[in-house]
Amino acid sequence: MQSLRILPDLRSSVVEEKHPGQVLLFTSERDDSDASLTGDSMVRPFSWRTFVDALRDPDLELLEVAEPLWLGEWRKALRYVAVAKVVRPRITVATYAIENFDARERLATRAGRTAMGVSMLGLDAVAFGTTGAYENHRRAFGWALRRTRHAVLPPRLDACTVCGPSTAAPREPVVLFLGAPSERKGFPVLLEAWRRTAPEGWRLVVADPSGDETPELPPGAEVRRQPAREAVHELLRTSAVVVMPSVRRPGWREQIGLPLVEGLAHGCRVVTTTETGLADDLRAHPDVHLTTPGDPDDLARGLREAMDRGRADRPERRGFSKREVTDWWLAATKTRRRAATTSPR
Ligand SMILES: [Zn+2]
Repeated sequence: MQSLRILPDLRSSVVEEKHPGQVLLFTSERDDSDASLTGDSMVRPFSWRTFVDALRDPDLELLEVAEPLWLGEWRKALRYVAVAKVVRPRITVATYAIENFDARERLATRAGRTAMGVSMLGLDAVAFGTTGAYENHRRAFGWALRRTRHAVLPPRLDACTVCGPSTAAPREPVVLFLGAPSERKGFPVLLEAWRRTAPEGWRLVVADPSGDETPELPPGAEVRRQPAREAVHELLRTSAVVVMPSVRRPGWREQIGLPLVEGLAHGCRVVTTTETGLADDLRAHPDVHLTTPGDPDDLARGLREAMDRGRADRPERRGFSKREVTDWWLAATKTRRRAATTSPR
């Protein structure tokens, strides 16, 4: 095992993108974590015993922990890092940060931000999943970031790790909404936009991993409750458009949005809002339609454009796999160590 990741909220996509040399110890699960994926011996529930055993693996080089602005998890992460540094003093500690909600609002006092910045100095390397997350951290903790190796490495957007690159097969006239039909995911705005576009021959499919909510749907719309992971990949391979109209809520802002990443990776057109932290990274993407959050007219316009235009050509290589992010962390910290041992004092 080369790397060890401790993560809350295990979900199927995290297991799918895991590389063979990585062990995942999870502390909690999401509704969309498929039981068949967690049967892997490299994916286990966290316990202090399994953690310390894993730290003793002679091949282990890297520990990945939750990001600092996930405050409750970061407090736990600091304990994991402290133990790891005792058992393996030379281990590289890294995080993948995607928080897009204003850090200066979440940590409203200067003392709180200073304490957070100091605690971040325990990280050897930070990869930001979006330009939005990088800018958020730079504004609040720029002084701490300057002391840590960091880079913006967005997720891979051109091929699904399970299905491979998308094919040129024709798509069904389906707009796919992946996730719980909640207010923050913009579902009420989507229904309003759907009524305004009234696209003939098109269907709206809602794939809801929890299946708890039963929204009232217009004609031409249907819900698939708790779909198996295989069925989700099938929907992504066959639908023409994925929609993710996230809106900001008190204390919450869309980070990346898994439906957006999965839609692009499967060759779908994606209609979303400027709330995702990837918005700046995607402005020129030929398959992305950015719309104004909370505006049903603008969302209807984006949907019509996406439905009318058909698919773009085969996507160019974009983004970084989890394997590449891990390689970057290790290379970045090795360079720093070498510099530290060779530079004159
Ligand atoms: Zn797939």
